[in-house]
Amino acid sequence: MKQIYLDHAATSPMHPEAAKVFAEALSVHYGNPSSIHQTGRSARRVLDGARHLLASSIGAQDPEIIFTSGGTEADNLAIFGTANAKEGRHIITSQAEHHAVLHACEELEKAGYEVTYLPVDEFGRVNPQDVIQALRDDTILVTIMLANNEIGSIQPIAEIGELLKGTGVSFHTDAVQAYGLLPIDVDALNVDLLSVSAHKVNGPKGIGFLYQRKNTALKPLMFGGEQERKRRAGTENVPAIQSFATAVQIAQETMDEKRQSFMEYKEIFRTVFSENAIDFKENGSEQLPHIFNISIPGIDIESFLVNLDLSGVSASSGSACTAGSIDPSHVLVAMYGQDAPELRNSIRFSFGIGLTAEEITQAAEKTVQITKRLAQK
Ligand SMILES: *Cc1c(COP(=O)(O)O)cnc(C)c1O
Repeated sequence: MKQIYLDHAATSPMHPEAAKVFAEALSVHYGNPSSIHQTGRSARRVLDGARHLLASSIGAQDPEIIFTSGGTEADNLAIFGTANAKEGRHIITSQAEHHAVLHACEELEKAGYEVTYLPVDEFGRVNPQDVIQALRDDTILVTIMLANNEIGSIQPIAEIGELLKGTGVSFHTDAVQAYGLLPIDVDALNVDLLSVSAHKVNGPKGIGFLYQRKNTALKPLMFGGEQERKRRAGTENVPAIQSFATAVQIAQETMDEKRQSFMEYKEIFRTVFSENAIDFKENGSEQLPHIFNISIPGIDIESFLVNLDLSGVSASSGSACTAGSIDPSHVLVAMYGQDAPELRNSIRFSFGIGLTAEEITQAAEKTVQITKRLAQK
């Protein structure tokens, strides 16, 4: 039996069209874009075309895109790259960021930087006024995600960006989960740096980019060749980049359609739960359409997920990095506190391409059965 995959926020399957482009490029566009012969020049053309499409997807200029090995590297480049380029030793972030941001900030603390971890409300949202109040003379960077990967809550990035205008503080946002599902425009958001990753939008793993607004201070983390305008050395992964661009193009064309389907999927869950008198609460608000994070009183998440997996449904307790370990989600801790029951009974279903309403109904019914079975124990 085919597993019903409801963990698209952890990683997503490649779109068949993107996979086809990837496979073809591996044997056709294998040239090194820095080579001056025809093979190299043809790879360069592919790279330039993909860069243009990806830059346009967020309202950026082509030279503002720095290809990286994914979202983690883009976040690290934004944080360490800013720290190394600017005077000042203070950074502002939130308690609900992805570990690629949080652990990078913790590493800077070890090197003598001071980091303010802003609290979030019970919906996982940062208050823009808190950002402004935390600003100091030596603040160099504010890094707050566009939307949360565990609960899907969208942060008031445009508002924070507007408040930071003219302060000289660089503003970074991790847009990995939002990309391809929300329209993104770097000028409307007022951000200087923005991270995305291909494998969350049905592209290949191991590729992403950091948007760097023109004239924003940034030091490279990789040294070597002169690729990416000396901002990220290493031969470009042309097949992955081309396939990434294909995936993004499709994601943009199908954004509305996907939003509709995913909203419908959430509604199916709600209906099946209420028909079966399942008590549940949705975590987060003003969410990305593909994330449905719920808390079911009385269940234990670990046995729940094992049972769900055995019944043919792949879901998660939140971030893939904390699944498999018993650490409670830092996002839920930030929202509800250290002792909240939600830390033990929250589950994340996340939607993506290739699903049907029928499969969602089956998954919801299985969730009901397991909830009832576990509650009897
Ligand atoms: C997945 C994810 C990342 C990490 O991206 P990789 O490409 O897997 O390194 C960073 N931030 C968020 C919000 C994510 O969901």
